[in-house]
Amino acid sequence: MQTLEYQEVSTQPKTIRVSALHALAYCPRLFYLEEVEELYTQDAAVFAGRRLHAELEKQEDEDWEELFLESEELGLRGRLDALRTRDRQIIPYEHKRGRCYHDENKQPQAWESDSLQILAYALLLEYALGITVTEGRIRYHADNVLVRVPLDDAGRTAVKEAIQQARTLRQSTHRPPVIDNERLCARCSLAPVCLPEEARLAHDKEWQPIRLFPEDDERQVIHILEPGTSVGRTGEQIKITRRNQPVETVPARQVGQVVLHSFSQISTQALHFCADQNIGVHFISGGGRYLGSFDSRQGSIQRRIRQYAALTSPDGCLELARKLVICRGQGQRKFLMRGTRGKKTQKLEKAIAQMKAVLKQVPQAKSLESLLGFEGNLAALYFSALPDLISQDVSQELHFSGRNRRPPLDRFNTLLSFGYALLLKDVMNAILTVGLEPALGFYHQPRSQAAPLALDLLEIFRVPLVDMTVMASVNRGQWDVKADFEVRGKQVWLTEVGRRKFVEMYERRKQESWKHPVTGYSLTYRRLFELEVRLLEKEWSGEGGLFGQLILR
Ligand code: SF4
Repeated sequence: MQTLEYQEVSTQPKTIRVSALHALAYCPRLFYLEEVEELYTQDAAVFAGRRLHAELEKQEDEDWEELFLESEELGLRGRLDALRTRDRQIIPYEHKRGRCYHDENKQPQAWESDSLQILAYALLLEYALGITVTEGRIRYHADNVLVRVPLDDAGRTAVKEAIQQARTLRQSTHRPPVIDNERLCARCSLAPVCLPEEARLAHDKEWQPIRLFPEDDERQVIHILEPGTSVGRTGEQIKITRRNQPVETVPARQVGQVVLHSFSQISTQALHFCADQNIGVHFISGGGRYLGSFDSRQGSIQRRIRQYAALTSPDGCLELARKLVICRGQGQRKFLMRGTRGKKTQKLEKAIAQMKAVLKQVPQAKSLESLLGFEGNLAALYFSALPDLISQDVSQELHFSGRNRRPPLDRFNTLLSFGYALLLKDVMNAILTVGLEPALGFYHQPRSQAAPLALDLLEIFRVPLVDMTVMASVNRGQWDVKADFEVRGKQVWLTEVGRRKFVEMYERRKQESWKHPVTGYSLTYRRLFELEVRLLEKEWSGEGGLFGQLILR
């Protein structure tokens, strides 16, 4: 009988980066996010630090040496900022842009994490080169002070203990909790993905979070609407070549997404470049259907393993699905209620009352099937009353009598369908940015091409981003029933002019801010997509309770 030999396969390097020990000393969760989940952000402070190092490299050419060292015996590797010889002693140097720490006697000292870092470099030098190192030095440029950190027995022990703690954390599937010292979070480059304030709020409902998540994402979403247009790359820029028009270039750092409608093209070079620059690439058909996204996710599998574990639990899925159905149903009902401010109709009032009764039953739903029933009731009530929000002044061709799709049979439904396709694309973009698996949701079942998790999250945003935008534009008379639409038999499509008009309205709507009902801070809709996906992930990371609360007031 043949036996198979079991071999443990590890893709992790045997040694730990010294800079990772610096992160560990700052916050174990920061170490975990960077080293295990492979999340990095290049914020302004990191860039400034790099510039400082580059400038130093130019200035200090007489006794400056760059050195990369690795010691498997110690379990460390790292690249030293600077190495100098003073009185025949080799001394590692580290440069910091910021200020030093002042002790109770107002003497300049190294911060704890900086101290551990320079000690780790010193010990690494001893192991790698077989020499004795007595100290390391840190220059704090903002204070223009040099701090000396002796490498004594206590320092050696501290470094070895930190290496051991790092090894243990690398094997763990659990993210460590947020640290108690919230002032460190305010300066942490990973705060926008860690969301420490939201984690504190999840544990303490009285907590008043400050916003560490950026309020807006000003990067452009480039929609390529004209068939025959091609997207390429030139240097660090996205190049757009339209028929009979001058070539347009946009710096990559200003682009968040490229959306290719109809039969526009993108080159392989541009796809590689977009993947490298974290620019989402999405495809929408000429008929206005979301086709898919270029999935170039990088990073660790740990996040998805936690998602698989959580979303294969029927009880966990049911709990999340109830929140989702309530969130969407409440949003629909509140939107109808807004419509009664101008004029009340019997149909509107009846639907609002009936929806309230259905919504009361949702928390008692015992299965996804019964939830689907409640959701169907809510949708039927909503769409039966929605036509009453259309002003009587609006052309009859823009009125509608209920939801229809695939293909839409009237202009109003055409607008809704195109809006939902753009929304699905944005939700998908957020899921891929966060690094979750779109194919595994908690409510929608994997029946069609569309990814269930994206369909789940879509429900939260339908009313505020699409239904309200469509209704407002129709009531304001922004549509030309002839130029913006094409009627083919019973089917109705948007023309290129109509699509362009819709895209502009939708992107403008995404720039508007909404005060988050739970966190209490404001941010734009285009940022809310990502925040909501991150809050969903917190539901199965021991920091839940904040997801699915985006309900209209
Ligand atoms: S935001 Fe705070 S808790 Fe999160 S990784 Fe940074 S320092 Fe740690």
